[in-house]
Amino acid sequence: MKPEHISVHNRSILLELIRRQGPISRAEIARKTNLSAPSITRIVKDLMAEGLIKETGIGDSSGGRKPYLLEFNANAKYIVGVELGETYSVSVLTDLEINYLSREKIAMKMIAEVDKVINLLLESIRGRIKQSKVDKGDILGIGIGVPGTLDTQAGIIKFSPNFGWKNVPIAQIIEKELGISTFIDTGVRAMTLCERWFGAGQGIKNFACVIVGTGIGAGLIINGNLYRGFEEAAGEIGHTTVLPEGPKCKCGNRGCLETLAAGPSLVRRALARISEHPNSSLADVLNKNKGNITADMVIEEAKRGDSLASEIVQEAGHYLGIGVANLINIFAPEAVIIGGWVAEQAGKLFLEAARETIKNRVFMLSPEKIRILPASLKDNDVAIGAATLALQQLSIPLSKATVRI
Ligand SMILES: [Zn+2]
Repeated sequence: MKPEHISVHNRSILLELIRRQGPISRAEIARKTNLSAPSITRIVKDLMAEGLIKETGIGDSSGGRKPYLLEFNANAKYIVGVELGETYSVSVLTDLEINYLSREKIAMKMIAEVDKVINLLLESIRGRIKQSKVDKGDILGIGIGVPGTLDTQAGIIKFSPNFGWKNVPIAQIIEKELGISTFIDTGVRAMTLCERWFGAGQGIKNFACVIVGTGIGAGLIINGNLYRGFEEAAGEIGHTTVLPEGPKCKCGNRGCLETLAAGPSLVRRALARISEHPNSSLADVLNKNKGNITADMVIEEAKRGDSLASEIVQEAGHYLGIGVANLINIFAPEAVIIGGWVAEQAGKLFLEAARETIKNRVFMLSPEKIRILPASLKDNDVAIGAATLALQQLSIPLSKATVRI
């Protein structure tokens, strides 16, 4: 590593340690990080000057002067997160521990013109700043979770089928209008970062975050950093083949993981099997709803103990387990965090089926050692995840806040 990279790296290690384990003494920091005393003194001095950490209370001493303890100052700066969707968008302004100061959900009314959409977002962000009464200069950055293929370094949406956009430099436009550093990423990656900073992924160097909803996607954290891959295409676990002659996927292939484990797969199985189980409570629900059934309904009946619904949820969990075991065999993470609305609602039944399959299909690693954890961010909030994109700014001295890492 180049010297400037080492100092950025050390700064971020130290800040994360104080944030997660503070109040903490300088001596304890030295023990836990192996950083030299002069390095710690210098970094602590910088972080205090920026207001990101503060001295608090006095710790125990083993003789001599009693040490001041250091703790993270969550109110020193603020972050803004935006979820951009074609039906609705959400914007939030939070402190550095993601406590909301202001939140707004706006209906997009299917507007797709670039200017109009960006103006709506700008108006919403300005509204959050005004309502929370924070100084614009204290906002570290803005993160936006966007749909489509991206060039995150350049802040460009390369292609968004949902909006019909091509090459929209959304981050630049917003940064120029508001004078605040702006970052973009996909919803899945934003949520993965959120788990890494605040959720089940805290302190884990290598993990995958698998989101199971209407589709399936994954974010990968390798050595503490988000891995994007060539053309930022990493993590498309939903389109890995698990059953070659399986159901047709929207990508054009057959038997992709998401056709077998995501929300719509529950509905498809229910409709296919219900005639063989006319006495199941799932059949009652189908009749009551005049032939319409949703994934939520299948999950609900499974939770009530209907055997057909349970079998369907467990089968989806089993296929998810195949996909996750493949991921583990390739990438050897310490943990896999599983979230998204299907996983959240189906809970234990789904996760246990996945765990069982993973246990049987992981090869080199001892499966007991790999933690399969539910996501801790229950409301599945992409806006909050996106806000954490702005936390990248914490790794570098704030006076150089325009430098991207
Ligand atoms: Zn597919």
